[in-house]
Amino acid sequence: MRWSTGDRDNINDMRGRSGGGRMIPLGIGGFIVVALLSMFTGVDLFSILGGGGAPQPTAVGTGGKVNASPTEEKLVDMVDAVARDVQETWTSLLGSRYQPTKVTLFRDSIQSACGYAGAVSGPFYCPADHDVYLDLSFFDDLSRRFGASGDFAQAYVLAHEFGHHIQSLSGTEAQVREQQRADPRSANASSVRLELQADCYAGVWGHEAAKPGRAARGAVELDPGDLEEALRAASAIGDDRLQKLGTGRVMPEKFTHGSSEQRVTWFKRGFDSGDPRQCDTFGNSGTR
Ligand SMILES: [Zn+2]
Repeated sequence: MRWSTGDRDNINDMRGRSGGGRMIPLGIGGFIVVALLSMFTGVDLFSILGGGGAPQPTAVGTGGKVNASPTEEKLVDMVDAVARDVQETWTSLLGSRYQPTKVTLFRDSIQSACGYAGAVSGPFYCPADHDVYLDLSFFDDLSRRFGASGDFAQAYVLAHEFGHHIQSLSGTEAQVREQQRADPRSANASSVRLELQADCYAGVWGHEAAKPGRAARGAVELDPGDLEEALRAASAIGDDRLQKLGTGRVMPEKFTHGSSEQRVTWFKRGFDSGDPRQCDTFGNSGTR
């Protein structure tokens, strides 16, 4: 994936001011694998990984100075470039209905308008303040633990969270939450529909980013093999795969994000069409 360094105006850098606190279970699916692995191994991985428990005194509310390696700083520039590109894409698709937001970077844990979040919850979107939240260490997990490496795999994760922003702006997210309150038994099924739609929206951006000649004007441009990276990532964090990894069993009624096959299918649907109207996971074609 090719991209150009910008001025980071899509980033809200809280890396020097986060740390400590409890987590909330939202995001792209990483949380679940930790929960399942904890169940499986009998070890509380949350405490090992630094989330949960009593707030830790690390750097809460202090200075905000960031100690980061050049590698991490390059990652921040990449996140900024992808966030800019995703937002420009949605602005051209939705016009004034799109409202720009930022990626809040944190370390270990942070208090969002949606509550405390830990790194182990994975990246997430908070509808209450409209920010995408990301601890950069998730990208290590994605590559080492889930076997999905590459910058476009990372970009897919980000674009998926921006997909939740679209759902928040369109009112879909609020409708689903309302429906889940009214009928808790349908909560998992509608969560899957929301998540698959976010995957499809990520694909819609991918369609745009795959167009040739974009790098020359400083935009993100996919290289050969990048699509496969995203598909590998979508497959790697499917609920069936994570459940199998955690417990050795697959329990479709407990899916929250969709199976590997569903995630790949809906991402591809967005990627092939470039048309958000093809992302109607709530319609007749459902989540098949
Ligand atoms: Zn999601």
